[in-house]
Amino acid sequence: MRALRFHSKGDIRLDDVEQPKCAPHEVRLKVAYCGVCGTDIHEYLDGPILIPADGEQNPNTGAKLPLILGHEFSGVVVEVGKDVKSVPLGQRVVVNPAMDDRHHSQSPCEICVRGRHNICLRSTFYGLQAPQGGFADEICVDAIACFPLPSSVSLKLAALVEPLAVAAHMIRISGFTPGQDVVIFGAGPIGSALVFLLRQYGAGKILVSEIAPSRSAQAMECGADKVIDPVTTAAQPAVSELIGPAGADIAFDACGLQTTLDAAFACTKPGGTIFNVAIHEKPLSLNLNLLTLSEKRLLAGNAYTAEDYNRVIEVLRSKGPEVEKFITAIVPLEQAVDGAFEELVRNKAMHNKILVEVNGEDCDSLRTAHSPASKL
Ligand SMILES: [Zn+2]
Repeated sequence: MRALRFHSKGDIRLDDVEQPKCAPHEVRLKVAYCGVCGTDIHEYLDGPILIPADGEQNPNTGAKLPLILGHEFSGVVVEVGKDVKSVPLGQRVVVNPAMDDRHHSQSPCEICVRGRHNICLRSTFYGLQAPQGGFADEICVDAIACFPLPSSVSLKLAALVEPLAVAAHMIRISGFTPGQDVVIFGAGPIGSALVFLLRQYGAGKILVSEIAPSRSAQAMECGADKVIDPVTTAAQPAVSELIGPAGADIAFDACGLQTTLDAAFACTKPGGTIFNVAIHEKPLSLNLNLLTLSEKRLLAGNAYTAEDYNRVIEVLRSKGPEVEKFITAIVPLEQAVDGAFEELVRNKAMHNKILVEVNGEDCDSLRTAHSPASKL
């Protein structure tokens, strides 16, 4: 089968590899679409970062280079492992790529026992630290990683569930409640997902700070009340004008710069929350008196859990068409390196999400071929 594999920094190739075997607790998926994540681009430009280093093997999954990338994918079940009862043949699914002790057949660590599987002591991801990933014709995944899609959610749209689930998780653990006023720094894929979901969840005022005009326009379409360009407009006076002099209840930083962290503190009211969503390239400096003297809270989040996946799928059931605009290009697997990876290196600000079409809508014909009705 075809598989897009990371060999080394700057070297991702479409290889011909053996089909994976389906273990008793797994299902085999024909992959429909797989989104390209900022994480994939970081690996391409500077990796291996999260993926195993050359000559090393992930202790939980045995993954080593060359490694199949892709962790934002949807597909159709074409084989069911003998112990699987929860996922039927022909089911259209989206995959939660976050793996924990359950996927590794380990007894649960104390973090997993508390239900916080996203920060398991042995946390790994399909498409980054596992032998298999979503940029391939087929993948065998643990049945518990599969979430069935409602009929109103297309396989294409389903590839957006993962980045939306990141945003849903951050909102959930930030302590957000309906009616609260929010500031968001950065309207890239996660920032725009935050705007969209916060609007769905009943946010009060939403102010976004974003440099790129295309992303500013998208933030407005997603439900922002105002978008400012930080080059020409300071965030704090804008928050004061839109929300009030005390500031916002929560400031989400989806940029990860010293300037956005400082602005997030300046824009948050006493007792409010600064929530870091970004992955930082270097340590930033922070005056902790800013927390102490006004009892602000600094929080951060990682990935998502099943609860976040379920919440996003529920939103997409009715609001799916509104996020189709997040898909700014769809390229076939054969053109993924130049059409998706290189395109995002060249023109990042012009895109929200580029999808790689692996088997695309052909998966739906498979579903018909496998559905019980077609056998009658
Ligand atoms: Zn664990």
